[in-house]
Amino acid sequence: MESVKSSKNKIVIANWKMKLSLKESIDLANDLKNYCKVFKKGSVVVCPNFMSIIEVKKILKDTPIVIGSQDVFWEQQGAYTGEVSPSMVLEAGCEYAIIGHSERRKYMLENYEMIHQKLKAVLNTDGITPIVCIGENEDERKTDRRDFVLVHQLQQSLGGISLLENQQVIIAYEPIWAIGSGIAIEPEEAVYAHKIIKLTLNDMFGPQVSSNNFKIIYGGSISSKIVKDFVDLENIDGLLVGGASLNAEEFCKVAKAMLASSKK
Ligand code: PEP
Repeated sequence: MESVKSSKNKIVIANWKMKLSLKESIDLANDLKNYCKVFKKGSVVVCPNFMSIIEVKKILKDTPIVIGSQDVFWEQQGAYTGEVSPSMVLEAGCEYAIIGHSERRKYMLENYEMIHQKLKAVLNTDGITPIVCIGENEDERKTDRRDFVLVHQLQQSLGGISLLENQQVIIAYEPIWAIGSGIAIEPEEAVYAHKIIKLTLNDMFGPQVSSNNFKIIYGGSISSKIVKDFVDLENIDGLLVGGASLNAEEFCKVAKAMLASSKK
């Protein structure tokens, strides 16, 4: 079976969702600038709304924090009103892109066929690392379908993809019932779900690619109060943080706790 604990460089990703105006995003970026000096370059990512990316990037450019987008389209250019392409977010300064967040699956009816197209487009855009979101809803959990759902979502989003040696993919396990609910998953349950994900990736890509090219992170109601329970768990390589990322002090507490356990 897989190793105990993750020996990978961990990553903590802030998802600001559509919660902040441009001014509020600028203020939060300025706050983060003061709190984040301790981090290793690239270990912390913030994902502002599209309108705020360029200004936030300007503020954080000489800090260890890098920028991600909250979504991306699957074509690079064309008549796709309202969409933003991977090359556009790259040009704006993003190094990461979240794909298939459950809120987009719910409100924009994104499905894993679309998520697969988005993943391919991002992988074809040198310089952006995809963060692919998966996770079961409450009903699927209650009816014991979680494992099946996770395997299925991985197969649909990643099936047929082959990765170059230097390409990274982050899988964010985000149980939908835990997002924004204030109730995080129990750490043992997260370890179990991450093991399912790890074994599925081993099966799909082989153990070497699964270990070298993938990180598996957890998201769902993480806060500074509970983050200690998620540090040093098997196959948990980082966190995706929503609500707790909207305050610089709180977010940096979460990031510090998680990253303290990272390989130096
Ligand atoms: C998210 O939406 O990705 C998330 C993890 O949100 P929260 O931390 O607020 O549950």
